[in-house]
Formats: sequence, C-alpha cells, structure tokens
Amino acid sequence: MSSRPDSPPPADRPPSVDALARSLRDTGLPHPLLVDAARAAIASGDPERARAEAQDLARSMLQPVINATGVLLHTNLGRAPWPATDAGRYRNLELDLATGDRGSRQAHAPTLLARACGAEAAIVVNNCAAAVMLVLAALARDRAVAVSRGELVEIGGGFRVPEVMQQSGARLLEVGTTNRTRLADYERAVADAANDVALVMQVHQSNYKIVGFTEAVSTAELATLDVPLVADIGSGFLDAACPWLADGPPAWLADEPAARQTLEAGAALVTFSGDKLLGGPQAGIIAGRADLVATCARHPLARALRPGGLVLEALQELALAYLRRDGESIPFWRMASMPMADLRARAEAIVASAGRGRVVDTASVPGGGTLPSVEIPSAGIELPGNHRDLLRAGTPPIIARVQEGTTVIDLRTVDPTDDTHLAEALGTLGD
Ligand SMILES: *Cc1c(COP(=O)(O)O)cnc(C)c1O
Repeated sequence: MSSRPDSPPPADRPPSVDALARSLRDTGLPHPLLVDAARAAIASGDPERARAEAQDLARSMLQPVINATGVLLHTNLGRAPWPATDAGRYRNLELDLATGDRGSRQAHAPTLLARACGAEAAIVVNNCAAAVMLVLAALARDRAVAVSRGELVEIGGGFRVPEVMQQSGARLLEVGTTNRTRLADYERAVADAANDVALVMQVHQSNYKIVGFTEAVSTAELATLDVPLVADIGSGFLDAACPWLADGPPAWLADEPAARQTLEAGAALVTFSGDKLLGGPQAGIIAGRADLVATCARHPLARALRPGGLVLEALQELALAYLRRDGESIPFWRMASMPMADLRARAEAIVASAGRGRVVDTASVPGGGTLPSVEIPSAGIELPGNHRDLLRAGTPPIIARVQEGTTVIDLRTVDPTDDTHLAEALGTLGD
C-alpha cells in the first residue's frame, strides 16, 4: 500500500500496514490479501494478530482435504473426487478437427457417455437439476408432466420436483398417492386429452425410502404409455452389470437404477449427475433418444446451462475409463471396491507408524443423497477423545468423524497416497 501524500498518517499510527503485510509474505498469499489481514489486525488493536488473520484467510480457501469420514460422496467435500486436467492449453472445444469447421462441445464426452450407457445420444449440462430443468422446458413447456405423488421429492440443497417443474414452464400433473401409484393412474391421466400430457417423469427417490404398504410402477410398465418417459435416476450409476469392476456389482448397489437398464426398459431419456455414482466432476447428463436429446440441445436454456471445457475434458477421461472397463482408474470406484483386507492392512501400518490408535472395523456410506440406509463394510483407526478440530487444522486438513467421544478415521475414503501424512498427523496429536 502507498500512503497518499495529501493525507499524512495520524500521529499514533501503528506499524505501517504495508510493512506488516510484507512481513507475512511467507504465507504465500498475494499482497492485497496480506494488506487486508494487516488492516484487520491493526483495526482490532492487536497487530500481532495479522499472521493469524492471514492464516485464517488461507484456510478459508478452496483446497485439497483428506476425507476420513467414510462418506464416499460427501456433499461438503465436493462429492466424487476427480483429478483436474491441464488447463493451460487450448483445446478443440468447438472445432471439428476433421473439417476445420465449427464443431460442437457436445460432440466429445457426451457421445462417449452415450456409448457407455447404450444411449443413442447425450448432452451434458452443469448438474442434474439443470438437466431436469432443460428436459422439461424443451419437451413439456406449457404442457403437463405426469409424476407419481410418491416421487415429488426434495433432493439435497433445494432440488424440489414441483419447484423445478414450475420454473421450467411445465405443468405438474400429480398421479396416484404418496405410498401407492398404479399404471392405471398414469393411463387415466395420459388418456384425458384435457390434461395435454407431454411426458411421464419417474423420479428416483434417491435419498429416502417409503416402506410398508407401497406400490410403484416399473420403468418397463411406464414405457408402455403413449407419451415419452423421462427417468431422473439421479445417481449416474451407468450399468447394473458394473463391467468396469473385476468382481462385478457390489451387493450394496442391488436396488439402484442404472442408466443402461432404465433405457433398455423403455425410458426415452434418463437424467443423472456427473459427481455421484458416476464418479466424475459436477455435471448433469441427459441421455437417450436422439431426437429428444437434439430438441434439448437446441433450446435456448442449453446455452445458459452448458459446461466448460475443463468439465467436458474430465468427463471424456471418465467415459473412456468406463469404456475400457477400468474402474481402478475412477477414484470413486477404486475406493468403493477396495477389499477389507487392504483397508485393515493400511490401518495397521498407520497405527504402527503413528504409535497411536486402534484398528477397527467400521462402516462407510455412499452419501451424496444416494442409497439411504446402505452401508459398505470398511476399516479404519479409532482414537479415544475428540480430535476433529485438531485434525482439520492441519495441512492438508483431515476431515474425521467423532462418535460418542471417539475419533474415527475411515480409510475407505482416504487415498492410499495420503496414508503417510495421516500417520504423521496422528503421531503429533496429544493424548
Ligand atoms: C442428486 C439428484 C438430483 C440433483 O442432482 P445435482 O447434480 O445435484 O443437481 C436430481 N434428481 C435426482 C433423482 C437426484 O438423485
């Protein structure tokens, strides 16, 4: 900061903001932010606090963390982890390299994702909420969409089916009851011309279960109706056969609808997230009938909802991994399918190296608003006492869970390359 010559500093001015800011250069923060920290500390009457202010600021920034919670798709930790790609290069985002003409950003990753789930075509938008919004706006504006009353759900941070429907300009036509909806309910709704039903939508109850006296209509039955069926499956589970996993589908995925099988059962379109069970970056995918996908792609909202090259390149890598059947290179699937024996061995090595803690069996969860009540056996380390704040204060921060006064480090969600750091961090904790 340079002081203005026409306004001399007051006589009691504490150490110059500029000098104080310079003394914090080793924090790695840019000078203007150090000036802010220095100013805040001086204003509080305690210039000594400047370093702590700067450190608080650095800590508040987006950064890698170690997820030791056992929640595989932790909403606060960005759901699925996926490596960032090199951003410093131009890419043929909208250039057709074969002809030299203008190309489409929807030509690369979406086509591969469609191939991986057996869809005719696909497009990518910013998240699944945007995918649903675009489908409804493009295919059902000013017309009705029939949805079961048992599927009028709210999914995480404010995705509520009736509200998304309203924003899209489509009219919600409620069918059946909360706990029981039959095919005949849909048939009546669609047959009544006054209803002007454009679509039937099936919404996966991702984050809750209705148990007891219930009845729902299968995708295959809904596909027999006279209007296209859109299935919002949400999680992005690509194929129930899990060809990318050497041991096939894990037991905990038994009832989760998958894109390929939902399309095979007759859904005209499926919508799903990129960062849930698909295991990639935040995105929303619309896949299915080519004519319907094309109508969505032409709608003016598609432009507002389109993803950037970074996300599309990451999704392309992800789609290629699925097509190679290489679940090991998809961090989510690598972690979700790591054998118990490996997790226990890692826990033992960490405990031995840290000289602290006890190896325990624990239970991970898929998280991210998917698969409620599903647990995945896991192993980790238990430490007496609540060390959550201390672990979170380290670099990189370690996010652990505390149960009844005991700190639990679940290794299923920790990348093995972080084990050494984990052992060091545990070793320096006080008892
Ligand atoms: C998670 C989910 C959404 C919202 O997805 P975002 O990618 O978070 O926008 C929509 N529908 C279903 C069924 C979901 O599970």
